[in-house]
Parts: sequence; C-alpha cells; structure tokens
Amino acid sequence: PFEVLVVGGGPAGAAAAIYAARKGIRTGVVAERFGGQVLDTMAIENFISVRRTEGPDFAKALEAHVADYDVEVMNLQTATGLRDHGGMFEVELENGASVKGRTVILSTGARWRQMGVPGEEEYMNRGVAYCPHCDGPLYKGKPVAVIGGGNSGVEAAIDLAGITKHVTLLEFDAELRADDVLQRKLRSLPNVTVLTSAKTTEVRGDGKKVIGLTYEDRIGGDLKEVDVDGIFVQIGLLPNTEWLRGTVALTDRGEVEVDNRGETSLPGVFAAGDCTTVPYKQIVIAVGEGAKASLAAFDHLIRSSAD
Ligand code: FAD
Repeated sequence: PFEVLVVGGGPAGAAAAIYAARKGIRTGVVAERFGGQVLDTMAIENFISVRRTEGPDFAKALEAHVADYDVEVMNLQTATGLRDHGGMFEVELENGASVKGRTVILSTGARWRQMGVPGEEEYMNRGVAYCPHCDGPLYKGKPVAVIGGGNSGVEAAIDLAGITKHVTLLEFDAELRADDVLQRKLRSLPNVTVLTSAKTTEVRGDGKKVIGLTYEDRIGGDLKEVDVDGIFVQIGLLPNTEWLRGTVALTDRGEVEVDNRGETSLPGVFAAGDCTTVPYKQIVIAVGEGAKASLAAFDHLIRSSAD
C-alpha cells in the first residue's frame, strides 16, 4: 500500500504528492487527467512569482515537478469508490482494480456548470469565461455580461463593474437569488444593467472571439441581443465528489467538508483544492491546501505508527 495515496492530479494533488514524497514515504497519485482544470486554461497571470504562463505549460511544469520525485502516477484512472478498512483505505477504480493507502488525499477538483448553448464551447477562452478573478482584467474598459443572479453571479458583476466598461447581468428567473446586501450593492452601481427572466440562448462570435449574446425575454418571448466582449458564466461550480457520497461528509453542494488541517470526517482521509469547502477556487489556493493536507497526512502517519 501507499502511505499517501492522492486522488486527483491537478494543482492540489501535485502539491500534495510532492510534499509527501519529500518526506520519503511511499506516494501514489491516481488521476483521471493529470493537470486538471489548468489544461483547459489559457493565460494564467495570478500564480504568484510566475508573471504569465499558459495553462498547458503550467500543467507540464506540474508533471515535471512531480516526476522529480519518487511518486507513482497512475494517470487516466478514475476513482469510483472509497472504502475504509480501519487504518487502511481502498480506492476503487473504474477499470475494476483498486489501490490501497494508509492515508488518502482527495483532490478531484470541480467543474463549472455550463449553459449548454450554441457558441459556448466554441468561444471558451475566447470571450466565454468562468472565473472573474482570473479573466476579469482581460476585459478592462470593455462591455461584458454575467450569466447567473446567485451570489457568485452578483459578486462577479460587482467585481467586474470596477474593471470593465459595463456589465449586463442576466438571470433566468424573475428575481435574483443573491443575498440582499449584494443586490443592493449591485443596484447602486451606475454601469450595471440587470435583466431578469432572461434565458441566454446563444453566444455570438465573429469566428475569432465573442461579440455578444442572444437571450429570450421569457415574459414577452422575444429574442434580444446584447453586444459584449466577454461572457462570465456563473451558474454553479460542481465538485467532482459524486463518487464519495456516503463515505466522507459532503455539504449539500457536494463539497468535501474539511477542518483547518484539511482532514475530512473520516480520520486519515484528507482533502484539498476545489473539491473542498475551502473558499475561493484558485490555483495558488489549491497548491497551498494540497501542501497542507499532505503535511497533515504525514502527521497522522507518525501518530498512528506509534500505536
Ligand atoms: P483540478 O484542477 O480540477 O484537478 C482535479 C484532478 O482530479 C484532475 O486531475 C482530474 O482529472 C482528477 N479527477 C477528478 N475526478 C476524479 C476521479 N473520480 N478519479 C480520479 N481523478 C479524478 N485559477 C487561477 O488561479 N488562475 C487562473 O487564471 C485560472 N483560470 C481558469 C480558467 C479556466 C477555464 C478554469 C476552468 C479554471 C481556472 N482557474 C484559474 C481555476 C483553477 O484551474 C482551479 O482552482 C484549480 O485547477 C484547482 O485545482 P485542483 O487540484 O483542486 O482541481
């Protein structure tokens, strides 16, 4: 068995693996797609000390850094279950095999919920964005739209109103669902338009980049257009934790509950990065949390081997 078995090969999992291997303990990583979300990212400008890089380059650097250590990477393997055998955990894989670990670090990340409308996929990273902290500055002085009137959509609109020329927020329902205090802040801003009962039906582009969107006014039934350079989709972040239901405590949104050392409700099982309750889903945060969970797992091993 591995002493530390990491499930997930994104920034959090890579950091966890490196920190474990540096303790000289047997470390394995099971990953569906080593690199994780950064593989789908274009420019990264907020990983502190790296002024600018591209997602695929960042993923290669993660892989190379892990390869410097004695880590067994099992790439293209999907975990489907976690079993607790009392001091030993078993991670079941889709291919029928299983891998054992004395501790496990869950770092399976998350995925942004997509609108599923024509043009969205085609213009991803070319105007369609999911992370205002990441891509907001790219739209400085330009008009943008935010899709979704929950807390994250309204927070994104407030944030973007300070950087961009104008923000149009579109909400499918008749009312915004964000907290009152956020809605009041939003409505106080001069360069924000809020459209409710607005169903986005298409992302429009010129072949190279986004030029606007089309929405259906759900009251009148008319199709209307908004011209924007960027569309921030804020309709939910889905943690990749479906396979953990019934094993570790999850919130109703599916995030793995962790304490301040990254430990889950199951002693010996830790979690880090976008799949957890830790707020602000960012690479620099995932990396820090991965390191922390790994040090906590090491601590757990030292204490349990003394029994
Ligand atoms: P992930 O990167 O999601 O990695 C999860 C890993 O787990 C992957 O290897 C995946 O294949 C694997 N996995 C999932 N399920 C299973 C399973 N059942 N079994 C085995 N393996 C599994 N953040 C920034 O800081 N700056 C940016 O500029 C930025 N831009 C972004 C742009 C886009 C388009 C997107 C989508 C995200 C962006 N982010 C950015 C967010 C950032 O990518 C994430 O916060 C970060 O990747 C989270 O790391 P993670 O390791 O927790 O999860």
